[in-house]
Amino acid sequence: MLVIKCPVCGVEGEEGDFHAGGQAHIARPASSNPENISDIEQSDYLFMRHNPKGLHFERWRCDRGCGKWFHAARDTVTLEFKGYYAINELPPVELMEQAKGYWAEHFASAIKSSKRPKS
Ligand SMILES: [Zn+2]
Repeated sequence: MLVIKCPVCGVEGEEGDFHAGGQAHIARPASSNPENISDIEQSDYLFMRHNPKGLHFERWRCDRGCGKWFHAARDTVTLEFKGYYAINELPPVELMEQAKGYWAEHFASAIKSSKRPKS
């Protein structure tokens, strides 16, 4: 049983109280250059998802509470949720640093820029 806590309204419940929205942080290719999107790029966007063993970043919707979408970081081996964050944000840096494989590559530039001194 998954126990999930909505970061927006604070409702805590079981998996059935929420709606799983699949992988997080998927960039829509058509938003940047719609005329030059190949069929392969479009089909990758629509159908190809990562399914890592370990830390994974997902979208969830709070069905029993506020109805808002949010992001969650979940370990796919232990099913433990490691953290929650807003739908328009990147994960906390400490979670991005724990990511491996695809997610480590995905967050590499965000981690690097978070460590730059602010001027
Ligand atoms: Zn909620």
